[in-house]
Amino acid sequence: MYSLVHTATICGIDSMMISVEADISNGMPMFSMVGFLASEVKESRDRVRTALKNTGFELPVKRITVNFSPANIRKSGAGFDLPVAITILAAMNEVSRERLEQVMLVGELSLEGKIFGVSGVLSMVLCAKEAGMRCCIVPRENEREAKLIPGIDIIGVTSLGEVIWFLNTGEKAIYEEETPEEKKEQNLPCHNFSEINGQQLLRRACEVAISGMHNLLMVGPPGAGKTMVAKCIPSILPPMTLEEQIELSKIYSVCGLFRERESLMEQRPFRNPHHTISEQGLTGGGKEPKPGEISLAHSGVLFLDELTEFRKNTLEVLRQPMEDKEVTIARVNGTYCFPANFVLVAAMNPCNCGYYPDMSRCHCSQPSIQRHMDKLSQPLLDRIDLCVEVSAVGYDDLIRPGGANESSEEIRRRVIRMHQIQKERFEGTDILFNSRIPARELQRYCPLGEKEMAYMEAMYKKMDLTARTYHKIVRVARTIADMDGAKNISRKHLQEAICYRGMDKRYWENCL
Ligand SMILES: [Zn+2]
Repeated sequence: MYSLVHTATICGIDSMMISVEADISNGMPMFSMVGFLASEVKESRDRVRTALKNTGFELPVKRITVNFSPANIRKSGAGFDLPVAITILAAMNEVSRERLEQVMLVGELSLEGKIFGVSGVLSMVLCAKEAGMRCCIVPRENEREAKLIPGIDIIGVTSLGEVIWFLNTGEKAIYEEETPEEKKEQNLPCHNFSEINGQQLLRRACEVAISGMHNLLMVGPPGAGKTMVAKCIPSILPPMTLEEQIELSKIYSVCGLFRERESLMEQRPFRNPHHTISEQGLTGGGKEPKPGEISLAHSGVLFLDELTEFRKNTLEVLRQPMEDKEVTIARVNGTYCFPANFVLVAAMNPCNCGYYPDMSRCHCSQPSIQRHMDKLSQPLLDRIDLCVEVSAVGYDDLIRPGGANESSEEIRRRVIRMHQIQKERFEGTDILFNSRIPARELQRYCPLGEKEMAYMEAMYKKMDLTARTYHKIVRVARTIADMDGAKNISRKHLQEAICYRGMDKRYWENCL
């Protein structure tokens, strides 16, 4: 008596189809499960036995073997309970084997036979659809999430009994349809650039940063409005394409942050982790690796406020993902890769008291200023494209009525146009934004005229630039030229781009 059912397991943020086979034969009574199982999957045996008993099925006094394949993939998570229970019932001829063909099952069982939700269902359903399944049986808690994938039947279930009933009769349990709540936009940005008085340079830098998806660092005294401006950034982020929405939704689904959502992730994320966050919390990890904050910020913004308060080691782990746009976590059982293509926006005080270089107010000693600045390593600083000095808001700007400022909606319209320009420019390549142009392609996408070359050569020597910063300046200049509607990068675009680098040079060199 043999049976086979399909389920799926998460590998990183994608899923793989797994076959669960059961064989019941005469011999010494025992129940064994094989196939590279994590401990929680091994425990599944006791849950399944008890859940079956409480649903009215005693396991036969025979030799029961359950095998998971492919054998080289480690199986983890509690989602295997339901497939194991059903494959045993099928081997016992208690449910129809024919009906199980092309059906993907996933769910955790309680001893009573109830079915609990699991993480990562969105990704599993996508995988099942690609594998040609026609139906997915998922926990009712995950039903909404699963139904976001069109073109495949989704059956939400709450108990083992319901699954058996469905498999034998094809009838779904009838639920009272929940009254559809009014669909409200989730985490609607609540800050608007119209609330920001003054800060022209900073407003401009934010627009440049988001237009070309460049990393931005704001340095300035406390109370200058760095955090406030950063919190306006979500309101100018352009919409995501469907593929981007699905990829981001998969990340959130794997992290268990997706239940009860009625739609895909439609807005670009803006993550704002506290400075006490651990390295693992930031990049992801764990025994069964899960995405961290940088992956939750994928295709959006990672905002690190009080940058110098983060532990230096925590910041250093950002370097590799910022370069590769993904994070790789190696484990004995395989290598996991999570996307992490985010824009870094960071804010910091220039010294402990926050007023350097205003020496009339700053009372920090040179060594203490240096220690403060040293918390950011040069390699990390090299990965920042725009560095802006923020000054306190002047009195004139303070009393100006809010209505006089340009609103986020207008800025966002321009940003959307910039993203469109870049989409057309990089058509057919895997480059998405100006900030991601590889150094070897710079000549092609950002050619400089003779005059501009001479200017950059002079600046290269004068400012003692590195190759990396030189490339960053050219990329930022490309974005500025786009915003200007110019086909070619001219000297004034380069000048503005250099102006965003001059400041960090000054700060860090003064104290070195
Ligand atoms: Zn100070």
